[in-house]
Amino acid sequence: MDALSSQANLAGYKAVILGANALGKIFPLMMTAAGTIKPSKVLIFGAGVAGLQAIATAKRLGAVVEVTDVRPETKEQVESLGGRFLQVEGIDANKSEGGYAKEVSAEFLAKQQQLIKDKIKDADLVITTALVIGKKAPVLVTEEMVKSMKAGSVIVDMAVESGGNCELSEINKTVVKNGVTIIGESNLPSLLPTNASQLYAVNISTLLNYLATKDGFKWELDEEITKGRRRNHQREFDNASR
Ligand code: NAD
Repeated sequence: MDALSSQANLAGYKAVILGANALGKIFPLMMTAAGTIKPSKVLIFGAGVAGLQAIATAKRLGAVVEVTDVRPETKEQVESLGGRFLQVEGIDANKSEGGYAKEVSAEFLAKQQQLIKDKIKDADLVITTALVIGKKAPVLVTEEMVKSMKAGSVIVDMAVESGGNCELSEINKTVVKNGVTIIGESNLPSLLPTNASQLYAVNISTLLNYLATKDGFKWELDEEITKGRRRNHQREFDNASR
């Protein structure tokens, strides 16, 4: 039933494909008679649904992948996909709730920025997926960081619709700043319509089958899934009427 996850998974895949396409270099190590090509370096912010699929996709294409997240439990998940987890040392790990991050302290963000500063200079492709539910996306890639990146490198800001993780990204635009291509596509699943529709149809039909009885829909308003649906509909309705 989880449409958000089914679509974010596809979006994580497509973000890597778009990023790889915009790069003027290949992902894997290649030894040829004319010389050795070093693998591309991919830096990923956020190892949730989209981030984990981005790691898997970048690894399958042969890149070296480094990842930062505020939830300590993601370390094991990142490593199981072959990524390297960048640990923010010396600060209590951020507690998460139901698999979602809570807002981190300014001190944590400052330490994370320090750690990332050196990594981002070296990255060929940066994919940002950092999200704290109900909040504006945290700005993790500053203008100064973009300036420090190599010309020809690429950023795909998946959080562009909620304000962006990169200070310079623009919604539904691809812009070039200081030689760095920044992709701000807000509807990546729509670029994979076959699979997006296939999975969404299963999400919806599973939900309807769950709610249906032979006499009509059952509305148990205290039951978790029904309650969650109603809350989302109310939010969408409120937003639409504003
Ligand atoms: P998710 O909640 O599963 O993952 C978000 C991850 O970000 C979590 O692991 C969280 O711990 C991490 N995070 C939070 N603050 C962080 C920080 N300061 N540094 C590093 N990591 C941090 O969400 P998701 O479903 O994977 O979606 C990720 C983002 O991609 C969301 O912003 C979502 O709206 C967006 N999205 C975009 C598209 C698109 O087409 N552009 C499609 C699907 C999802």
